[in-house]
Parts: sequence; C-alpha cells; structure tokens
Amino acid sequence: MKTIIVEADKGILSESDLNTATNIIKSGGLVAFPTETVYGLGADALNPEASKKIYKAKGRPSDNPLIVHIADSGNMEQIAREIPDKAFRLAEVFWPGPLTIILNKKDIVPFSTTGGLNTVAIRLPASGIAKDLISRSGGYIAAPSANISGKPSPTRAEHVIADLSGKVDMIIDGGKSTLGLESTIIDLSSDEPIILRPGCITKAMLENIIGNAPYDKAILGKIIEKDIKPKAPGMKYSHYAPEGCLTIYEGNIESVILAINKKAKEITEKGKTVGIIATEETKGLYRYGNIKSIGRRGDEDSIAAGLYAVLRDFDDIHAEYIFSESFARGDLGQAIMNRLLKAAGYRVEKIL
Ligand code: AMP
Ligand code: MG
Repeated sequence: MKTIIVEADKGILSESDLNTATNIIKSGGLVAFPTETVYGLGADALNPEASKKIYKAKGRPSDNPLIVHIADSGNMEQIAREIPDKAFRLAEVFWPGPLTIILNKKDIVPFSTTGGLNTVAIRLPASGIAKDLISRSGGYIAAPSANISGKPSPTRAEHVIADLSGKVDMIIDGGKSTLGLESTIIDLSSDEPIILRPGCITKAMLENIIGNAPYDKAILGKIIEKDIKPKAPGMKYSHYAPEGCLTIYEGNIESVILAINKKAKEITEKGKTVGIIATEETKGLYRYGNIKSIGRRGDEDSIAAGLYAVLRDFDDIHAEYIFSESFARGDLGQAIMNRLLKAAGYRVEKIL
C-alpha cells in the first residue's frame, strides 16, 4: 500500500490534507495522527471492518481493546451507558486532555473496537489536528498508539513512518508529542473507580475531583504473576520492550552512576554495544557506551517526553545492553517508572 505522508505546519494541517484524511477515515481506512500523548493510529470506531484493520497493521492481539477518541464530550453519551456522575466531573475537568475513561458500552460500538469487552474506553484529546479529524470524520475514531505491537509508542512522526509506512493509508506529521506518555486510564464501569494505567493526569489529580481512586494492583508490580490479572488487557503484554537487555539501576544517584560505569566498562570490553539512559544533570559523568539524555532530573515532564525516543534510538543502534538510571515514583514519576519497568521486564539492580 502507498502511504500518503503529510506535514502540519506549526500544528495546522492544510484544508486539503484534512479532507484527504477525513475521506480515508470515512471510507474505512487508516490514518496515523498526532495527539498530545503519543501518535495514534486511527480508524472509524463504529465500523467493525475499519477497526479490524488497526489490529492487522499493528500486529496487535485482537483481545487488546482500542481507545475511542471523540471531539465533543457530549458524544460520550452516544457510545456509553450508565454513565456515573464521576465520569461527567472528570470529563469536565480533564478533557480535552490525557485522560481515558472506561464505561459500559452501547450496542453501537462494535466488539472489534472493544476487543470483545462490554466496556468502551473514551478520550477527548487536546491536539487540534486530532479534534478536527475526529469531528469531521463522524465523531468517533478508534486509535491505539501508532506503533507496531512490541515497539515503544511513537512520539515523533519518524517513529510512525519507521513502523507503519506501507501498512496504513496516511501519516500526518505533527512534530514531537508534547507529553510523550500514553493517557491515564480510569475505569468507571463499576462502582469503584480504578486507575488501570498511570499517566500525566496523576492519581492525586483524579482523587481531588472524585475521591478514592486506587491503582489496579497489577500496575504496581510485576504483572505477569498468575494471580494478578490486569484489568486493561493491554497492560498484560510486555510491549515497549527494546531490542537490547534493559536494566534499571536503583539507589542514590552517585552510587548508581558508579555501578553503571563499572558494568558498562565490563560489557564494552567484551565487544558488546552498550546504551546508557542518563539525564542532562548526569550525562557528563559516564565514561563508556552510548550515552543518551532522556531529559532533566529536575523536570519530570521532560523525562516523560523523552523516554520513548531514547528507547527507539537504542533499537536503531542495536544496543545489546542498556543501563538506565531510575526516577522518583512521585506523581508523574509513577507513570514514567511504570513504562520503564515494563520495558526492562522488571529487571532492577538495587544499589546500596
Ligand atoms: P494504546 O492506545 O495502544 O495505549 O492501548 C489502549 C490501552 O487501553 C490498552 O492498554 C487497553 O488494554 C486499554 N483499554 C482500552 N479499552 C479498554 C477497556 N474497555 N477496558 C480496559 N482497558 C481498555
Ligand atoms: Mg500502545
């Protein structure tokens, strides 16, 4: 398939490119587009054949449901039923933005979009391009991250092009994703709210509006254990894994740097390609391997925005071993460490 690739100029897509994208979605095709979290791979959420194409292009397991993106919060009621007051309150405060709400679905939403579940995940993104595309294409676009399953989520158009060129109808280049981590997911389909995926809208921010909202147990630790089954089906797949063997070093930063330097020297001397995930503050302190800064320690937002691009960079140079510093698990840090730990298959070296 020939993929049309277009570029938005300073966040604005030309009228003719927007028309092309809209026509593709309406006729059941696939368009990758930028959002503030990561790039999404979109199809008409109410057309079962269209959403099946998403699974095929990504190589995504068919039981891993898609998030339905809307452009008008009123549309939530067209696709969900028994909507609790808490959902309206969260939508009011955090939409448009990086929050996905799980609700019981109406029949209009095909099971091929929800991975066979009776619930539907809904988000109203902030990105102008996303909103224009959604509202012009009928109001409901199913869009998981626009990567091949098993790759880190794409935060730049070149990531999408590398993964999906030739497999989708169109890719819209909207520059770097500003947030760089997937949306927070909260399940409001039963009486107790549960956070299924940490993200930029933190637990504290959610609880400030609706009261108690615990994390799904599965996201706090190693989730592949038999008795803890994640409620978001996607969380059970260890996606985001880089090609190389990633280990996270935890402890005070000076000791971590010493330990990583020692290990990187040893592995480099064996002739292996080593990558080091450092930060602006620490990158000058490493002596071996390919050192990449993920962001600034003092600025969690920059770390979230840089994480996936660095993981992809190390895939590009075929790093065989990657050593990473760890980050505080405060508000946004919880989301960052959740992604990093998954990418590392929970391989952590504790440095005393
Ligand atoms: P992605 O858009 O690639 O970040 O993937 C969407 C995430 O949302 C996956 O982890 C899914 O398992 C999760 N998700 C989507 N719909 C539902 C749902 N109805 N119930 C629980 N989790 C969902
Ligand atoms: Mg994804």
